[in-house]
Amino acid sequence: MPLPCRHLAAVAPRRFLTSTPRSRPLHALSPCAALRHAPPPSQAWRAAQERGKKTKATVKLDDLPQGLIPLEPLALEPDTHKPFPTVVRQARSNMQRFENCVLLTRVGGFYELYFEHADEFAPLLNIKRAIRVFSAGEVPMAGFPFFQLDRYLKILVQDLNRYVAIAEEFPNDKGNPGDLMHDRRVSRIITPGTLIDENFMDPFTNNYVLAIHIEDHEQESTHQSARPNASLRVGLAWLDLSTGQFFTQSTDLSALPSYLARIGPREIVLGEDLQASKDHGIFNVLAEDRHLITYTSPSEVQKVSGWSPMLESPLPPRLENEFTIEEIAAGSSLLQYVKTRLQGSNMKLQPPTRQLDVLGIDKNTMRALEIKKTMREDMVTGSLLHIIRRTVTKGGARLLDNWLSSPSTSLEVINSRLDLVTFMLNHELLRERVVILLRRCHDSHRLLQKFAFGRGDPDDLLALKSTVYATQELVASLEQDSEAEACIQAMVTRINLEGPNELAKRIRDAVDEEGLVQQHRLEDGEAGEMQALAQAVISSEGSAEDSNILPKGTRKKKASGGLRDYYSDDSDAWIMKPGASPALERLHADFAALAIDKTNLGEDLKKRLGAESLTLRFTPGMGHICHVKGKDMKLDLSTVRSVGSSKSTRSFHHPEWTKLGQQIDQCRIHIRAGEQRVFHQLREQVIHNIIKLRRNAAVLDELDIACSFATLAVEKDWTRPILNKTCAHKIVGGRHPTVEGGLEEEGRSFITNDCFVGDVQRTWLVSGPNMAGKSTFLRQNALITILAQVGSYVPAEYAEIGLVDQIFSRVGSADNLYRDQSTFMVEMLETATILKHATRHSFVIMDEIGRGTTPEDGTAVAFACLHHLYHVNKCRTLFATHFHDLVDMVVKGDMEGVGFYCTDVLEDKDGDGFMYDHRLREGVNTRSHALKVAKLAGLPEEAIAVAKKVLDGRVRSV
Ligand code: ADP
Ligand code: MG
Repeated sequence: MPLPCRHLAAVAPRRFLTSTPRSRPLHALSPCAALRHAPPPSQAWRAAQERGKKTKATVKLDDLPQGLIPLEPLALEPDTHKPFPTVVRQARSNMQRFENCVLLTRVGGFYELYFEHADEFAPLLNIKRAIRVFSAGEVPMAGFPFFQLDRYLKILVQDLNRYVAIAEEFPNDKGNPGDLMHDRRVSRIITPGTLIDENFMDPFTNNYVLAIHIEDHEQESTHQSARPNASLRVGLAWLDLSTGQFFTQSTDLSALPSYLARIGPREIVLGEDLQASKDHGIFNVLAEDRHLITYTSPSEVQKVSGWSPMLESPLPPRLENEFTIEEIAAGSSLLQYVKTRLQGSNMKLQPPTRQLDVLGIDKNTMRALEIKKTMREDMVTGSLLHIIRRTVTKGGARLLDNWLSSPSTSLEVINSRLDLVTFMLNHELLRERVVILLRRCHDSHRLLQKFAFGRGDPDDLLALKSTVYATQELVASLEQDSEAEACIQAMVTRINLEGPNELAKRIRDAVDEEGLVQQHRLEDGEAGEMQALAQAVISSEGSAEDSNILPKGTRKKKASGGLRDYYSDDSDAWIMKPGASPALERLHADFAALAIDKTNLGEDLKKRLGAESLTLRFTPGMGHICHVKGKDMKLDLSTVRSVGSSKSTRSFHHPEWTKLGQQIDQCRIHIRAGEQRVFHQLREQVIHNIIKLRRNAAVLDELDIACSFATLAVEKDWTRPILNKTCAHKIVGGRHPTVEGGLEEEGRSFITNDCFVGDVQRTWLVSGPNMAGKSTFLRQNALITILAQVGSYVPAEYAEIGLVDQIFSRVGSADNLYRDQSTFMVEMLETATILKHATRHSFVIMDEIGRGTTPEDGTAVAFACLHHLYHVNKCRTLFATHFHDLVDMVVKGDMEGVGFYCTDVLEDKDGDGFMYDHRLREGVNTRSHALKVAKLAGLPEEAIAVAKKVLDGRVRSV
C-alpha cells in the first residue's frame, strides 16, 4: 500500500528543525497536513537536497522557509526508489483501513504507534515520542513493551473511550530478509463494549454492549419536534463477550431510559441510518447519560436462525417465534458488530434470554436511591450494592449487581431465593463451609468464555479443574447436611458434574501443575528484569525500536493462549506429565535414554581426548559444542573444528555430539508436539462440557448470593420479608440501610419508623421541618421494597410487602443545568414519567415536588400530582412536602385515603436550642424551624434578626 504523501522533514536535516526557535515542530502535523501547507521550495533547500544528506551543514538556517519546509509529493508507487520500510507502510495502510481506531502495531517485543497516532497518544499514555529517520523520511513513533499491553489498553479503551486496532506480526515467507519477515495484520479491534479477558476488566460487573433497533425511524424523524415518540417499538439486544451472556428485550422508546439504567451498557450500537437523523427522539434519551455510541451498517441477517453459528447451543424452537421484528433486528446487528470487532475469531455465546417478571426501576430512581452508585461522586462505595455485598466470587458479585438492577416480581422466584437465605442463615457451619469452597472456585464464566474463543491456556485448565473439584465437595457438603431441605435439593439437582468430573480428572492426570508453578516463579523474576531493562532502554535511547535488541524469551501475555508461549528455547520444562498420553510416555522414555547416551558420550570423550574438564553443551549461536577449560585448552584438537575460544575456555564441534544433540532436539520437538495434541484434546473436552460447566457456575453464583444475604442478615439483624399479592406495605421498625451504617460509624443510632401505606391509606403526606428525616423515611421504604424483591432480608422488625411492579421516585434536585434544563424542567419531566406510568401496583416516592418554582405555582403543581396519583394511578405513594397550604387543600379535597404524618424537632424550654428526634408521628407539622437551621448553619445574628422580623410581620420590606 503506497503512502499518500510525506513531509519534507524526512529529508531535511533534523538539527535545524529542532534548533530553531522560530520553526514549528514538523511532527506536530500529519504528513498530509504538511503537504497541504507547504510553500514552494527555496533555492537553498533545493541545493541542499541535490547535494544529498551529508552536505546538510552548508544549508543556512535563514535560507530555510520558516514554519514548514516544503517537499515534493512522494511517488505513490511502492516501488519508488526510497520507500518507507514495510512495517511503516503497513501501519499507514492499517491506519487508513481502521480509520476510527488507534492502531497498535506489534514489532518484535513492542507495540508501536506511528505518525499522528504517536503525536496524539504518546503524551496521553505518558510514553516517549521519538522521530525515526528513514531514508524515505521521518516518522514520529512511540511504543511500549508488549507485556504492558493491558496497561495501555486500559488507558485507551477504558479511560479514553477509544477503539483500538491491534496489528499482530504474522510470519511471512516471502523470504526477503530483514524488512519483509513479517506481515502486520489487524487481528482484533477492541472497543469498550467488546472486551474478552483483558486484565483491567472490572470483575464485579458485566461488560455489556447493547444494540438498539427502533421501528420505522424515518417516519418519526420527519416530525418537527425532537421529542421522543414514546410509543415507537424498540428492540434491544445486549451481550457480555467475557461471559457469553446474551439477552434481548422488546419495549418502547419511553421505557428505554430505564433499560439503559438497568443494563448499564459500556457501548451502544446503532444503525448507520440513524446517524443522519440527529433530531430523532432517541438522541434525547441517549444524550442524558453520555453513552458511547457506535454506528454500524445495517445487518444482513434478519432471521433468528442466522444467529446459530455464534451460539453454543440451538435456540429452543418455542423461543424462536417469540422474538419481535425489532428484537431480531437488534440481535442481528449486535452479532454482526461483534463479529467484525473480533476479525473472524470464533465465539460461542449462550442462546439469548429475555428477563421476565422484573420490577421496573426507572433511571431516576436508580440514581436517586443510590442503588449501584452514589449520586454525588458516582462511586460504588457508599451505594446500596456496596453496603450489602458479602459475595466471595466474581460471578456472585456480578449476579448480585444484576439482581439489584432487576428485582423480581414473581412470588415463586423471590420466595425460593428467600428460602435459601433462611436455610443458610440457620446453618451457620454449613454456610461457612460453602463459603470456603466458593472461595476456591475461579471465575468460571470468564474462563469458559476464553475457551469458547479458542483462547484458554494450561493455567486456565488448572483453574477449571480446581473449580470442578470444589463444586464436587460443595455438592457433597450440601447433600450430607440437608437431605430434607427442598430449597437445597433444588440447587443440587441443577448441578451436573458427570462430564466435568471426567474433564477435571483428565486435566489433573495430564497437566504438570508443579512444573507450571515452577515455571511461573522463574518467569516472574525474568519479566521484572525485562521490564526494567526495556524501560531503561526506552527512556535513554528514546526509540522503542532500539530496545528490540532485548531478549524476547518471556512468555507472551497469553495473547494466543497456546502452548508456544510456555516454552523457552533452552530449557526442558514440560507442561504435560509424561503419562498424559501413550505417545508422550514413549517419547519421554526415548528422551531419558538419550540423556543417558549424552552422559556416556561425555565420559567417553573425556577419556578419548584426555580432557577432564570437557562438557557437552548447546548454545543458540554455536549449536552443539564441547567445552573445555584450564589446562585442557592445550590439547591437540586438530581432528575437531574449533568454534570459539576465550582466555580460559575453548569450544569445538564434535561429530558424535552433534549427531546425538540433534537426536535430542528432535525428540524434544516431538514431545512438544505431543503435548500440543493433549492440550487440544483437553480444550475440546472443555468446549464439550461448556453448557454443563456454565450451568454449574450459575448455581454457584446463586449460592454465593444466598450465603452473602444470610451473612448480612446476621450481621445487621435484618428480617425476612413476607411478600404477597396485595397492594399494601406493612413495615414495622424500618431503617435506612446506608444511613444507618453512616450513623453507626459516628456512634449515633438510627430511629426506626413504621410505614403502613396502601391499605386504608393509599397516600401518606409527610410534612415537617428541614433535616428532620422526611427524605430518609421515603427512601428507606423504597429500598426495603427493592431488597425484599431481590430476595434479601430487610432492615426492619417486620415487613409485609404487596408485590410492586414498578418503583418510581422524584427526589432531590438532580440539576441538569449543563444540558440546559432547569431544575423545574427536570422535576416536571421526571414527574410526567411517573404520572404516565405508575399503576395500582406501583410504589411512588415524591420528595418535595414543586421546589424549583414560586410557592404558589409549586403548591398548585404538587397538589395536581398528588391528586393524579391518588385518583388516576391509585398507586402507593409517600409524598413529602413543605407546602403547608397543600395540607389544607388535601383536607378539603375528596381524598379520604390520604394519611397525614410528620416529623418534628424537640425544643429547649426557652425555644432556642433544639434537636431532631427523627420520629414520624401522625399529624401535620407546619413549622419549618427554618431560622433555627439557619442559625445552626452560622448565618450572622443580624441576618437572623431581620428574618425573624419579616416572619413576625413587623417589617414588610427590608
Ligand atoms: P429532611 O428530608 O426532612 O430534610 P433528611 O431525611 O434529609 O431530612 O434527614 C437529614 C439527616 O437526618 C439525615 O442525613 C440523617 O443523618 C438524619 N436522619 C434522618 N432520619 C433519621 C432517623 N430516622 N434516625 C436518625 N437519624 C436520621
Ligand atoms: Mg428532604
